[in-house]
Amino acid sequence: MKTVCIDIDNTIADYTNGLRDYIRECGHGEDECPCPEPTAYDFTLAGGWPFSGDPKAFTWWHTRAVADGLYSREEPYAGAAEALDQLHDAGWNVIMATGRADDWRGESQRWLHRNGFRFDGYYNGDKTILTPDVLIDDQPATLEAMAAKGITVLHPDHAYCKTAPGRTFRRWAAVPLILGGAR
Ligand SMILES: [Mg+2]
Repeated sequence: MKTVCIDIDNTIADYTNGLRDYIRECGHGEDECPCPEPTAYDFTLAGGWPFSGDPKAFTWWHTRAVADGLYSREEPYAGAAEALDQLHDAGWNVIMATGRADDWRGESQRWLHRNGFRFDGYYNGDKTILTPDVLIDDQPATLEAMAAKGITVLHPDHAYCKTAPGRTFRRWAAVPLILGGAR
């Protein structure tokens, strides 16, 4: 049986928009903070966010948003749960793999169940020590490290990971077609 590891933030769950919504709720309007799609994985390199150019401010915003329930409120990407179902039915061992280091309340797994994600295993930590057959992730450094080990990598088409190793997919419906059966 082949194993596919699948990241959560900005892979199956919309972290960018969740953080943007949180910033709006905190009273920062579009004029002041347009919060554009980041062009680098490091969000502080994008202009127009309240933490632009300031890593400490990013940590402050991220920490505050997570404490206020960001991980429970992110929207799943369309078709992601259905795609995971199809992968499971095609024989894949589907492992959710997140690097979230601040999910104190176990929100991630509850979020997955609430949003209809079926999975065979759950991993929280450094993904680069894993050896799955396939990794689906949005972090360029992780994609590079895994591709260098000969692991097949796929990533969504965010501006900041378009040039990362591996195949880009625009819609989750395409992923089971790209990976095919695991038997
Ligand atoms: Mg991610």
